[in-house]
Amino acid sequence: MKIRAAVLERFGEPLVVQDVELAAPKAGEALVRLHACGVCHTDMYTASGVDPSGYAPCVLGHEGAGIVEAVGEGVRSVAPGDHVVTLFSPQCGECVNCRSGKTNICMAIREQQNAGYLPDGTARLSRDGQELRHFMGCSTFAEATVTSEISLAKVDPEAPLEAACLFACGLSTGLGAAMYRAQVQAGSTVVVFGLGMVGLGAVVGARLMGAERIIGVDLSAQRLELAQRHGATDGWLADEHTVARVLEETGGFGADYTFEATGNVGVMRQAVEAARMGWGVATMTGVAGRGETLDIVPRYLITGRTVLGASFGAVKGREQVPELVERYLAGEIDVDSFISHRIGLDEVNRGFDLMHEQDGIRTVIGFD
Ligand SMILES: [Zn+2]
Ligand SMILES: [Zn+2]
Repeated sequence: MKIRAAVLERFGEPLVVQDVELAAPKAGEALVRLHACGVCHTDMYTASGVDPSGYAPCVLGHEGAGIVEAVGEGVRSVAPGDHVVTLFSPQCGECVNCRSGKTNICMAIREQQNAGYLPDGTARLSRDGQELRHFMGCSTFAEATVTSEISLAKVDPEAPLEAACLFACGLSTGLGAAMYRAQVQAGSTVVVFGLGMVGLGAVVGARLMGAERIIGVDLSAQRLELAQRHGATDGWLADEHTVARVLEETGGFGADYTFEATGNVGVMRQAVEAARMGWGVATMTGVAGRGETLDIVPRYLITGRTVLGASFGAVKGREQVPELVERYLAGEIDVDSFISHRIGLDEVNRGFDLMHEQDGIRTVIGFD
């Protein structure tokens, strides 16, 4: 079938929206009609060419939500009509990692996905007979896509797809970092460094876990205000004294939990140093630049701090994304307030501009 899609033709250049060919789903795959897709930092990062593992031409986008239209042979976990959220972090349930229960990093289709292909090593996307590769197993900057069935989370059809798409990446990453990776305890003190989509998700996650004090730290006063609407008890403008201030306000000890959501290794270090001696847990969610390392004075570890990292917030996508969506439907997560701009697919490059200018939290592409 013919679909409209945003193609990354060459790194560092705007995406080109055009007609491309999408083949029918093969065994273990599903065809999804997209209704909404968030514009995420990772899309922009790949388009820029800075990511050494990027490839072109490909169809970008990985924060999609839509409705299953057809399924390939042997597909039992989703059916036409199901509402789904795409998962760049799939969950097969059978590989050594999925069976362990200790991680959300599924091994089943990792190699093929990283190379831009579906699990059988081929692409369903093409143009004039020339192959176009898939992105993160999703390619959701398009009217429709074909993904592996293990890359889809079936969600409550009551949830508006425009809101559901945010659970495909940034929001779940932040929520999960607090709820599933760090497992914030009730009554604790939390500091969140960086209040973009992921950091705001961590604020909400900490609130849902019953944290008593949640300090949001960012360079933007507007974001501090937004964080406070989502449960932060304090909003601090970031500066070089943030660590000292955390220590000062916690009797010299530090915070029970800190979260880093900036990708800046200097801020990661602050998150480690602001964590409480004895039991503080510092969780890193940001993606640092190529070759950058996190500096930690070993004394911080010997005196009882733990440093964690989380990809997709340690969320087991097929099981837990539907649960998080239910909490949105129950009124516990105000997802709609994160959507700052709504655009059509043809304006996808404007979505990148808005992100570049740090204008708003999330731009969502609508396909209706
Ligand atoms: Zn993303
Ligand atoms: Zn697996």
